[in-house]
Amino acid sequence: MSETESSPGFDTLAVRAGQQRTGELEHAEPIFPTSSYVFESAAAAAARFSGEQPGNIYSRFTNPTVRTFEQRLAALENAERCVATASGMSAIYATCAGLLAAGDHIVSSRSVFGSTTLLFDNYLRKFGIDTTFVPQQDLAAWEAAIQPRTRLLFLETPSNPLTEIADIAALAQLAHAHDCLLVVDNCFCTPALQRPLALGADIVIHSATKYLDGQGRCVGGAVVGSEALVGGAVYGFLRTCGPSMSPFNAWVFLKGLETLSLRMQAHCHSAGRLAQWLQEQAGVTRVFYPGLESHPQHALAARQQSGFGGIVAFEVEGGQAAAWRLIDATRICSITANLGDAKTTITHPATTTHGRLSQQQRQEAGIADGLVRVAVGLETFEDLCADLARGLKA
Ligand SMILES: *Cc1c(COP(=O)(O)O)cnc(C)c1O
Repeated sequence: MSETESSPGFDTLAVRAGQQRTGELEHAEPIFPTSSYVFESAAAAAARFSGEQPGNIYSRFTNPTVRTFEQRLAALENAERCVATASGMSAIYATCAGLLAAGDHIVSSRSVFGSTTLLFDNYLRKFGIDTTFVPQQDLAAWEAAIQPRTRLLFLETPSNPLTEIADIAALAQLAHAHDCLLVVDNCFCTPALQRPLALGADIVIHSATKYLDGQGRCVGGAVVGSEALVGGAVYGFLRTCGPSMSPFNAWVFLKGLETLSLRMQAHCHSAGRLAQWLQEQAGVTRVFYPGLESHPQHALAARQQSGFGGIVAFEVEGGQAAAWRLIDATRICSITANLGDAKTTITHPATTTHGRLSQQQRQEAGIADGLVRVAVGLETFEDLCADLARGLKA
């Protein structure tokens, strides 16, 4: 569905973009579990390989089911190009490996996914790409960290687990003033709630594992942006080095995209109510949710997002022991670090997702021992409240 024919709405694109029926006239998108493709002749094979003739060659880089997912997600982010990857982490890695070289420098928010920190710190550094981490809110710190060799600014917004909001437009301006690219991990909002490219970002990263799937089934990722950047160096890396998405996973994610906006509305609605409810509970000392007026960047979130998201974090009195008692007393919430699932998940960040940080690093990052993160699912709201009330009583 091209943008010029008409301009279909978000939900129409989510249901229909990218589909091309085969001669069987199937209604749903087919899965193509094939590693390679046959050519009509030796000459046709040569034309495909030389790039003279477009078409499928080998499923590491050309698969019709994966392509449908890529085109649909590109349409939802209003981007020229999307490249699907095996995981969210390989999307970040493919972006860096494709676009950067030894000697280049990254400035990253310090409030990014744990594995992203390790990728930058342990692995990219080995190949001569250094990263400086800065407090997400501090625009002056971002600017001060930029060096002549800086090529890329990286962030997540809202951040995990404290839901800090970064000003994408301001950081895009800063990046471009210094000839850098702004890369935004849009995992928490998805294009249903936030479109970073429209705010000036150059590349959007997804862990499709989370809300794009929405039911906790498959691991996958995506890089979204311009044809020049994503269709060039990022696709080139993926095609050669091979962290590709499987056709089956692409099919699951396609089905996920069809209900994305309905699910995100429901996640936001329940999370908003839960955040309000938590604020009124004895034993809860602080609630972090961008939809609360008490959130320091509430106004920015309201401007930049069309919903406040499904993640709520809160602090309980009594530190780690109290947080663990609360988590262990719940019966509906799943104790797992995943998020973006129909099933509500509950996590103690200080001893799981942020457990590899030192006590001091955790303190700097604001991860208190009494902090609990809830990724609000699609269960009946009253049941979730009752479950957490049971936890709070414990
Ligand atoms: C989960 C996650 C990732 C990594 O994605 P995988 O699919 O697990 O590799 C990256 N960024 C954020 C914000 C995430 O939540």
